This record gives sequence, C-alpha cells and structure tokens, in this order.
Amino acid sequence: MHRRLVNELTLELALVPRGPVLIRAAETGLDPTRAEMEFVRGQHGGEETVYLPGSTLKGALRAHCERLARTLEGGNGDAPRLACNPLSEAREGPGASCSARLRRETGQGGEHLFRESCVVCQLFGNIALAARLRVSDAYPLESVRVEQRASVAIDRVYSTVASGPLTYEVATTGAFGARLTLHNFALGHLGLLALTLRDLDEGRCAIGYGKSRGLGQVGVRVTGFAVRYPGCTVRDGQLVTLNGTVVGLADQLHGAGQFPDTSGYAFPADDATALPAGTSLADDGWGAASARMVGDQLAALPTLWSACVERWAALALTRGGQA
Ligand SMILES: [Zn+2]
Repeated sequence: MHRRLVNELTLELALVPRGPVLIRAAETGLDPTRAEMEFVRGQHGGEETVYLPGSTLKGALRAHCERLARTLEGGNGDAPRLACNPLSEAREGPGASCSARLRRETGQGGEHLFRESCVVCQLFGNIALAARLRVSDAYPLESVRVEQRASVAIDRVYSTVASGPLTYEVATTGAFGARLTLHNFALGHLGLLALTLRDLDEGRCAIGYGKSRGLGQVGVRVTGFAVRYPGCTVRDGQLVTLNGTVVGLADQLHGAGQFPDTSGYAFPADDATALPAGTSLADDGWGAASARMVGDQLAALPTLWSACVERWAALALTRGGQA
C-alpha cells in the first residue's frame, strides 16, 4: 500500500524567534570580522540568507515526539511500541531501537516493517522504513534580524574567565517559513505531531544551539493547511475511490485505515473526524479530492487538533502504552 499514496497533509508554518536562535553552520570562515559561531546560510531567491535547515527542525520535532511518547510507553519489558531509542544497538528490551531490530527483516515487506516499527519511527523513519513526514528548509518569510553576541566561559573554581569571549551569531526577530508534509498517516500520528508543534510554540522544546541556556525558542503559527486524497473523487457528499469504494463523508478528515487494502498495516479503523465547519473535500481536477484552509479559516484548527490528540491517546493505548 505504501507504494501508493492514500492521504497527504501539508502544513505551512511560520516560525517566529521569541529570543535568540542559533543554528550553527558546519564550518566557520576565517574572516576575523565574523562571529566564531556563525548561523547557517544558504542560497534562496538568488541571495545568501540565514535559514533553518529541515533536518534540524525534523530532529527537534523527533526528539520531542519521543519524549511525549515515552511518557505513555507501557514499560512491560518488551521493545518500545511508541518510541524506541534510535541510537541504541539493542534489539530487545525497553532500550531497543527499531533500526537494530528490523535491520535483518527488510525482506519481510512494507506492511510488516510498518507494523513492527514504533509510532515515532512510523512518522520519522528508521533504517528499514522511509519517513512519512518531510520537513522543508525554512527560509525567511520576512526580514530576519541577525546580530552578534559574545559569551565567556567562567571557571567554576576561581570564578574567573576560563575562556572567551566567544562570539556567536543569532537570529532575534522575523519569521521563517517551513512546510511539513505527512503522507499515509493515521489521525493519531497527526495528533502526536500537533502536540509537538504546540509544545514548540509554548517553549517546552526548542531548536538549534544553546537550548539549555534558553536559546532556540520559536513561536509556531500555522499559515496553511491542505489535505489531499489522490485517486479519489467526491460523489453525493462522500469521498469515494475511483473504483467506487466509499471512504467516508466529504466533510471529514480520513486516516489511512479508512482506505481499502490497508489492513496489513494495522492502522486504526473508523479513523475519521470532522473538518472545521465550512471546509469540505472537493475534486481538484487532477484526479484527487482535496481541501484547503487559509487565513481566517485556520482559527478553527485547534478543534481538529484536539480530535487528533484523542486519536493519538487511543493509538498509544492500543499499542500497549499507559494512555
Ligand atoms: Zn522506533
């Protein structure tokens, strides 16, 4: 099934620094007028600009998803079902990683690998399973202010300057635009992602360098929401596959378990919830049904997120957690 695309969700985000943010460049130049720790830069629209690499954002989101999922893990001595330890080489027990366990099972097919991966790996991927979530690089949406700061390391015994000053470069105001794309997902996956984005917005997690010193706090604003069901059409208020199977109502958001031929992945069944009032799926003229929300319509998103968070709790429970 996963060679086929049943559902795809796109979230456009504005990430707004709430204080100094630093994503370190891998290499720092020799120019003595520039900071020793520079912000990563890339080419965008013909200009060199600071940006938030998608891999950095994805890593921060994954780490926080793991934290949230671990609090619900059953802890019955089996391999984790909600969040493994991706850095572990253990194949069994609570500290195991899906990658270590599934490395030798890649011949078993996509359904087996998906079912046997923890929920976080189902979203972010592992050695045997491709990620369902993609995160774009985030370039400035509006001009981003970058300034240099200096810090010194203080000797713990003598309270004198041990080293430094070290100069570093931070972004302090402006906004970066990121795009998250999630495909073949259950509503529970979306619920876990929504919780993580809320926590990022509320300062419970951060991005980049110096998180323990309070750097990396960003506000998160959803600026666009779109969902698409390739190979589907809308008929008499219902979402229908091209060969006529009814998926569900056209004013609902449907998880992958709603679609035919997905049972081998053990997705939750009856996985649909109402789209915000006034939003409904329609044929997009390109062989897919889709819905899109922008502007004021997005104010209704928290209701949808709450419904998805309930599905996340149910998914955690059925996978053996303590939800
Ligand atoms: Zn895993």
